[in-house]
Amino acid sequence: MAKVGILTVSDSCSTGQGIDKSGPELVSLVESSNVGHVTETQCVPDNVQEIRKALLNWCDNLKLDLIITTGGTGFSPRDVTPEATVSILDRQAPGMVHRMLSGSLAVTPMAALSRPAAGTRGNTIIINMPGSHKAVRECFGFLQPVLGHAIDLVQDKKSPVKSLHESMQGIIPGCVSDNVTTIPVHSCPHHHNPTLQEVTSGGVAGRLRQSPYPMISVQDAQNIVLKKCDLLLKQVNGVGMLDIETVSFTDAIGRVLAEDVVAKDPLPPFPASIKDGYAVISSDGAGVRTVRGESSAGYNPDLKPIGTGEIIRINTGAPVPPGADAVVMVENTKLIKASSDGEELEVEILSAPTPGLDIRPIGSDIRVGEVVLQKGSTLGPPELGVLAAVGVTKVKVTRQPVVGVLSTGNEIQDPSEELKPGHIRDSNKTTLKYLVKSKGFPVVDCGIAKDDLTTLTDKVRESLESCDLLVTTGGVSMGDRDLLRQVLVSEFKAEIHFARVNMKPGKPTTFATCVVGDKTKLVLGLPGNPVSATVTCHLYVLAACRALNGHKKPLPGKVRSLLKTDRPIPLDPRPEYQRVWVKFEAGKSVGVATNTGNQISSRTTSVAQANGLLILPPRSDKLKEIPSGSNMEFDVILIGDLTVEN
Ligand code: AMP
Ligand code: MG
Repeated sequence: MAKVGILTVSDSCSTGQGIDKSGPELVSLVESSNVGHVTETQCVPDNVQEIRKALLNWCDNLKLDLIITTGGTGFSPRDVTPEATVSILDRQAPGMVHRMLSGSLAVTPMAALSRPAAGTRGNTIIINMPGSHKAVRECFGFLQPVLGHAIDLVQDKKSPVKSLHESMQGIIPGCVSDNVTTIPVHSCPHHHNPTLQEVTSGGVAGRLRQSPYPMISVQDAQNIVLKKCDLLLKQVNGVGMLDIETVSFTDAIGRVLAEDVVAKDPLPPFPASIKDGYAVISSDGAGVRTVRGESSAGYNPDLKPIGTGEIIRINTGAPVPPGADAVVMVENTKLIKASSDGEELEVEILSAPTPGLDIRPIGSDIRVGEVVLQKGSTLGPPELGVLAAVGVTKVKVTRQPVVGVLSTGNEIQDPSEELKPGHIRDSNKTTLKYLVKSKGFPVVDCGIAKDDLTTLTDKVRESLESCDLLVTTGGVSMGDRDLLRQVLVSEFKAEIHFARVNMKPGKPTTFATCVVGDKTKLVLGLPGNPVSATVTCHLYVLAACRALNGHKKPLPGKVRSLLKTDRPIPLDPRPEYQRVWVKFEAGKSVGVATNTGNQISSRTTSVAQANGLLILPPRSDKLKEIPSGSNMEFDVILIGDLTVEN
């Protein structure tokens, strides 16, 4: 992990007259990227000697990998950070300065008044950034895609990805960092970065022939997604949820509570009978009693205190009259005397009751002031029932993330249109929309984008405006028309967190974040093949939705299951998520998973019949295939209801 120092240069902050916002901002930007870890922070006045002293100490003694300064780059006579920096640099890095200035000039002409320097001293990179809070954020965003790579180059590190890259055909060696989770390949100055002209005028020959992104595990990919969701929630309002809204309990199904729910009155509100029978005085014991009246649930009961020798006929749920301290069920009584019109007059209690028998005391189910539902609970049918029981008809819940779904591909058309030559109908959007909706999250249909930079950019821009999480399908593989990552990085300054996952199907799944206006948006770029899109939606999209919604356990649930197969299943070098039907047979604690047939990732019906994704291990020397009729146990991710056969 690279060691990073953040140096704030400011007369007012160094004397405590001003509050340093930009230094801490840079610390959090560095820490939330994968550039490195901030080991040093300091604040010095606008003084050449002081700045030089701090920089020299960090470069020559502490041997930091990267120093970012903030402040002192302007035109006022006290602004001397670039002069102090240049005086200790071995080599200058005008490309970094150019990148910051050109990016900032696109935002404001005032950027022309910033005079940053950048370069290296020994193995340390030093970069000056302006003093304003907003400017450091922007400048860090402009440089972040190249920082990890720059550090590796200065350190002359030979990373696994670098070696891989060098072995690639037609690619200049030394362009890719092992820190690729934050390095958009198209931002690397050495990379072939296809422009619209190149793509459309034969420049395709220069495209990458292997993904430069490192292959990461599904678990790592899921953790990255969840970590980013968490970070986003903290950024939004610091309380770990997108926003809070008040809804009627009848509209709250599936929502996550943003407050504890407290009972304002007890349940039952009166001592209630548990049985149909007679309210009695327990110390009267067994014997014949006079039936004085009745207490019927919901109606005006006879609530005069009962005296010795009296009993009251009572129903389940009816109030027990004062004086009575037990209920004897009708089965333990005998009719002794009735009136001519059929009214009970005398009844014998056959066995002596104990005090409290078959009575629910006041508040025995729910006490006044009891927390009946905790903040963070998901409201399912029983939880809504609890709300109803305590009379809480309006609840504070978290705002759900809005999910935009966008299909991409020149060949993709709306299912309602007549099929054009060379086209296929868009099935992904329908599957994903309804999958996300079925989990209760609001969805925006963002349409279909063609595979050209302009249309894709426009569609992505429009889509990002309308959602918190954009889910795209297609355009993330290695084809010359797979432009999503390029558009995200070059047009939206997105940070690509991963773009290759060790799984089948779903390898090119891409996860990025970018800032639109003042909001961070998440983008999950799923592969176009319908099965891959569905599988990765379960693994990443739904997990992200739940995390953003405040669910405590956002990852999909797994069960242990035996695999029953009628033919051998060859294993893939990647862990495979096979579509299976899981059922529990009578008396068995382990489920049985039956594979849904041909598992090619374009065969939509293999998912349509499945309720589980069986995780097969990667092929190894020990295990090359699952033998026919095998009874091996595997983990299954549930994507549908379990069948239980009795
Ligand atoms: P891509 O990931 O764009 O290379 O697409 C991979 C495969 O998935 C191609 O055969 C596409 O035609 C197909 N595909 C892409 N998007 C969709 C979609 N929305 N619906 C159905 N099939 C699709
Ligand atoms: Mg495509």
